[in-house]
Amino acid sequence: MAHILTVLGLGPGAREWITPEASEALGAASDLVGYRTYLDLVPELKNTPRRHVSGNRVEIKRAREALDLAASGKRVVLVTSGDPGIFAMASAVYEVLEKEPSSWPGVDVRIIPGISAMQAAAARVGAPLGHDFCVISLSDIRKPWEVVENRLVHAARGDFVLALYNPASKTRREQIKKAITLLLEHRSGAVPVVIAQNLGRAGEQVLITRLDKIDPDIIDMRTVLIIGSSQSREVERADGSCFVYSPRSCGG
Ligand code: SAH
Repeated sequence: MAHILTVLGLGPGAREWITPEASEALGAASDLVGYRTYLDLVPELKNTPRRHVSGNRVEIKRAREALDLAASGKRVVLVTSGDPGIFAMASAVYEVLEKEPSSWPGVDVRIIPGISAMQAAAARVGAPLGHDFCVISLSDIRKPWEVVENRLVHAARGDFVLALYNPASKTRREQIKKAITLLLEHRSGAVPVVIAQNLGRAGEQVLITRLDKIDPDIIDMRTVLIIGSSQSREVERADGSCFVYSPRSCGG
């Protein structure tokens, strides 16, 4: 029987957002690997041996270790938040498999998808991702800032709705400010913006604002932003509640 390394996404945080397929794989795991915060989201598995990932370099090392463990016959589950293939560990696994093609010949990789933060954010407010959109990480740890800027400009020019991941951290405070300034050069300040924090976790906050009214100081690592296109709208209903959506057709 082939050995399997399972890479799965837990969704953004709420138990209901863990798929049955992911739950089943977690229940069958002999070893869990992942960031401590994500492993803590599955408390009932606290007796399963765990290995923590805590940085970029460690990601590659842990991916290798996870493959080694799987090769030795362990039922290893590499745990990520959201979807494992979106700014997460699945790429680290494939990166080491590409670099070391003759290692781990008997190990199959199984990816179990999860709900990504942008989907949860969108669901909280309406349907802002209902038409063409782009997803960009504002982190310049793995790519130069010029690359981020270039992508932001082209996405803005293309009038895509934008989902922004990794918008800021305790030390990366300038990126989000620069991104807003850049987007305002190509897009009206009036487009709706969704600022979603701690989705499905304690302290969840979802704010609807506009591009020229974003307060960068409130944005942290647990925030995902959705920036509307020229077609996206915030609509107030008769009862005073609001929704944000992007129409299915592009006007014109
Ligand atoms: N694989 C994850 C993304 C990991 S990158 C996914 O598909 O969602 C980490 C970034 O994801 C964070 O900086 C933040 O922008 C976003 N994120 C993840 N979980 C979140 C949550 N519960 N609430 C808001 N944003 C979240």
